Amino acid sequence: QASARDRVARALTAFDREDQLMASPLVAGHAVDGAAHQVMSPVDMARQVGAVVDASVEDVDTAFDSAVAAQPGWDRRGGKARGAILRAMGDAMEADMDRLLAIMAIEAGKTLADGIAEVREAVDFCRYYAAQAEREFDSAVRLPGPAGETNHLGMKGRGVFVTISPWNFPLAIFAGQIAAALAAGNTVLAKPAEQTPLIAFEAVRMFHAAGLPADVLHLLPGRGEIVGAALTTDPRTAGVAFTGSTEVARLINRSLAARETAIAPLVAETGGLNGMFVDTTALKEQVIDDAINSAFGSAGQRCSALRVIFLPEDTADEIIEGLAGAMDELQIGDPTDPATDVGPVIDNEAREILLRHVERMEAGAKIIKQIDVGDKFDSGFFFGPTLVELPSLDLLEREVFGPILHVVRYKRKEMTAIAAELADKGYGLTLGIHSRLSSFHRQIQSLVPAGNIYVNRNMVGAVVGVQPFGGEGLSGTGPKAGGPHYLHRFAGERTVTINIAAQGG
Ligand code: NAD
Repeated sequence: QASARDRVARALTAFDREDQLMASPLVAGHAVDGAAHQVMSPVDMARQVGAVVDASVEDVDTAFDSAVAAQPGWDRRGGKARGAILRAMGDAMEADMDRLLAIMAIEAGKTLADGIAEVREAVDFCRYYAAQAEREFDSAVRLPGPAGETNHLGMKGRGVFVTISPWNFPLAIFAGQIAAALAAGNTVLAKPAEQTPLIAFEAVRMFHAAGLPADVLHLLPGRGEIVGAALTTDPRTAGVAFTGSTEVARLINRSLAARETAIAPLVAETGGLNGMFVDTTALKEQVIDDAINSAFGSAGQRCSALRVIFLPEDTADEIIEGLAGAMDELQIGDPTDPATDVGPVIDNEAREILLRHVERMEAGAKIIKQIDVGDKFDSGFFFGPTLVELPSLDLLEREVFGPILHVVRYKRKEMTAIAAELADKGYGLTLGIHSRLSSFHRQIQSLVPAGNIYVNRNMVGAVVGVQPFGGEGLSGTGPKAGGPHYLHRFAGERTVTINIAAQGG
C-alpha cells in the first residue's frame, strides 16, 4: 500500500506540473482544435483537472468516412495481427498504471484500490479478446454437408462499430468495448462519458502508440444528446456497444431502429436494482462485510452494487446494528490516500439526485444512519453513506446510483412474495444470496432474475474470463462482457459452400 501511495504521489506530481491535461476529438489521428471547456475534479470542486474540446457533428462525419474506408483492410489483417496490437495495448496500460490511476483518481474520484482493479480489468479485456481473435477469427469452422461440397463457417467484422461508455469505469469499460469491437475486425468510433474525457483521450493515444492505425479508432468526446445521437442515428453505424443507463439504452435502440439502413445490433449493459437475500442460517459477520463492501465501495457507483438487502425478522436488528457500526469505520475522503474506502460521487447532479432520494425516504421510510462528511461536503462532491429501512419495496422503483443501502425485513412466509416484487421491477443484473441452505439458494435464484449471482460472498466481481458480466431485462441485452460469447455479437458470420467437382485443380 505504501508503495502504491508513493507511485501515485509521483504520478500526481508529474501531473500537477503539466500545464493542463487536454482532451479533444482524435479523428484519423489528428487532435481537433476548438473551444475547450473545463473538466473539474469531483474530489475538489475548485480544481480544474484539464480541458476538453467536444467533437462537432462534422467531426463525427469525417470520422465515419475514415473508419468506413479503413474497415476492410483492418478486417483482412486477421485475428493474429489484431490480437498482437491489443496485447501491446494491455502491456502499455500495465506499464503506465500509476499515471492512469492518478488521472482516474482526480478526474473520476476513483480510490487507489478501485483504480488498480480497473487498470487490471482493462488489461485483462485486451488480452482476453486478443486471445479470442487469434483463436477464432483466422480459421473457419468446417461444417458437415453433403458429398461433393465443403461447408465452412467463419467470422468477420461488421463494419464501423460505435462504442458509448459511462464515467464509472472510464478506462475498463471504455477500453474493453473498443478492444472487443477491434478484435472482431471492426473499426471504431468511441464516445466517452462527458465527465471522463481525459482518461479516454489517454487510452486512445495509447491504443495508437501500441500500433493501431489512426484511421481504425477515432475518439469523439461530447454530449450524449449531440455526439452520441449523431453516432447512433448515422446510417453507417454497423453496431453499437453501449454501457450506461437503461433510459439512454432505450433511446439508442429507437435511433437504430428508425434508420432505414442495415439492422444494427445493440450490445447494452445498463443499470440494476440489485438485491441480497439473507436467511437465518447466514453468517452475520460475513453478511455485514459483504453488504458494506458492495453497497459503499466506489461510493456505490458500480452497476453491480448492492441496493437493497432483505433480512429475516429474527436476525434483522442484529445485522442492521452491525451494518450501522461498520459504516462508522468507513474512511471517506481523498481517493489518492490508500486508507480511503469511499471517495466522492461523480458530480453535482449525481449528488443532487441522492439528496432528493434521501428527502423522499424521510417521508415514507426510516433513515437508520447517514454518515456526516463534514466540510468535505463543501469542498468536493462527497455524500455520506446512508442506510434506509423501507416499509416495502414500493418506495424503490429504479436504480439509485450512489452510497445508499436500503433494508427490507421479511417474515418467512412473505419471502416468496417479496422476491417476486423485486423481480417485477424488471431489472436483472446482480443478486446476492447468504444462506447455508442450498434449497434457499435455489429458491431465490428461481424467483429473481439476474445475470450475475454471488452466493455467500460479496457482490463485487466481474473478473474477465471468470465472471463474465452482464444482465437481463432492464439491465441489458447480453452477451456478457469478458465472456466467450461477447465477441460474436460484434462479428458477422458467413458460410462458404464450395462445389468441389467444379473446383478444378
Ligand atoms: P448515461 O446513460 O447517462 O450515459 C452513458 C453514455 O451515454 C455517456 O457517454 C453519455 O454521453 C451517452 N449518452 C447520453 N445520452 C445519449 C443519447 N441520447 N444518445 C447516445 N448516447 C447518449 O449513464 P452514466 O451516468 O454515464 O453511467 C451510469 C449508468 O451506467 C448506471 O445506470 C449504471 O448502472 C450503468 N452501468 C452499467 C454497467 C453494466 O455493465 N451493466 C456498467 C457500468 C455502468
